[in-house]
Amino acid sequence: RELAELMKIPPNQVMAELLKRGILATINQTIPPEVALQVAEAFGFLAEIKGEEEQIQEEEEELRGEVGEPRPPVVVVMGHVDHGKTTLLDTIRKTNVAAREKGGITQHIGASVVQLPDGRKITFLDTPGHEAFTSLRARGAQVGDIAVLVVAADDGVMPQTVEAINHAKAFNIPIIVAVNKIDKPGADPQKVRRELSEYGLIPEEWGGDTIFVDVSAKTGQNVDQLLEYILLLAEIMELKADPHVPARGTILESKLDKQRGPVATVLVQEGTLRVGDVFVAGTTYGKVRAMLDDKGRKVQEAGPSTPVEVLGFEELPMAGDTFKVVKDEKKARQLAELRKARKEQMEKVSKGLTLEEVFKKIQAGELTELRLILKTDTIGSLEALKKALTELSTQEVAVRIIHGAVGGITENDVMLAKASGAIVIGFNTRPDPKAREVAEREKVDIKLYSIIYEAVEDVKKALRGLLKPIE
Ligand code: GDP
Repeated sequence: RELAELMKIPPNQVMAELLKRGILATINQTIPPEVALQVAEAFGFLAEIKGEEEQIQEEEEELRGEVGEPRPPVVVVMGHVDHGKTTLLDTIRKTNVAAREKGGITQHIGASVVQLPDGRKITFLDTPGHEAFTSLRARGAQVGDIAVLVVAADDGVMPQTVEAINHAKAFNIPIIVAVNKIDKPGADPQKVRRELSEYGLIPEEWGGDTIFVDVSAKTGQNVDQLLEYILLLAEIMELKADPHVPARGTILESKLDKQRGPVATVLVQEGTLRVGDVFVAGTTYGKVRAMLDDKGRKVQEAGPSTPVEVLGFEELPMAGDTFKVVKDEKKARQLAELRKARKEQMEKVSKGLTLEEVFKKIQAGELTELRLILKTDTIGSLEALKKALTELSTQEVAVRIIHGAVGGITENDVMLAKASGAIVIGFNTRPDPKAREVAEREKVDIKLYSIIYEAVEDVKKALRGLLKPIE
């Protein structure tokens, strides 16, 4: 009927046209889009199928702000275990003068806002470590503007320090180094500088472009200076967002609360979120019933870079899901359902890049850089492989080792691969059970070799399109 009305043709003629194609349809029946197309053409109409994706994209265009205003930076704290990440975050939150004046106590909602006495703000992601950050990224979230790399001055650069550097680099997040524990007798901040220089983090005082701040998370020494440098870098980066558009952001955390139902922390990244706004988040939707800030206070609105706990979700969203405000509840429900269907479809097809797919992507012009994560048994084999593999770069495709280290393949390696579209190569090393499980689930390709030549040959073949797909 709808099609007939659109074309202003009597419905029985449309039904006759359908019958010619072997479809006996009633007036209320839904017909496949392709059939509708043919029928329309038979009546001299030029029709086209408007994809669901186009509809979503159209809406996304609408939401994109034109003008931006400066917004607070969103900072993630990274570093080796026990180097003082948690202590640093605690100290920063405690010395947060503005919060103390208003009597607010920091609640754990996934991120907290630190306000300096002059009103400038910094948003910190609560969960320190690059693991949490990378897993958010792996789910497609674009969260985190600046990384603070904590390195204990009495310990120096450790494996997770290197991992954190590579993770930050893979996402193009600038790093500020906090050389911590300078109150300790054995502290050697200069040694940390020397060691980090080898990883491309050259201190400004040595002519490089990385900011180093010597701090003590325990005594609070120089922590205010660290905050100043973060704001300075943010200013240089010209971080902007338009507060006057419908809100858009990312889910940082979610939980099912016995009294309040599904609650989630939303990091607002664009626009302003208000009580009463209708939204879609991942595959669920809802209406903002109430909002609480990171100090547990009720708020009516939240602007760019503000984390807020939101009540009013129909179902529990997932950390990393995108969040956006839409016009009405019907639209929100439709979008959520659409996404659910798409997600189910997506889950059936492989998401991670496999070595076999590399050539296809190169030909389609979709791949200009082949990203690899290398894990090996020795430093010697790591260096040899790094060199041999990067030398395979062609004019079309650069081979880039985004992370290389000695040791087994871990869950972190797999998550980084997922988040950055990389392939994991293990040389005389294997994935641990957890890594294997995650790789399976996230469809990340892990290639294991024990002969350097074979690894190099495989990558070479992949680049040339000679690698036979493995069924
Ligand atoms: P994380 O694993 O990186 O989060 O490290 P923590 O913040 O848990 O700190 C590990 C240990 O180092 C704790 O016992 C802290 O008290 C201690 N610590 C952290 N920062 C400092 C510091 O600046 N000076 C001293 N002396 N100890 C520190």
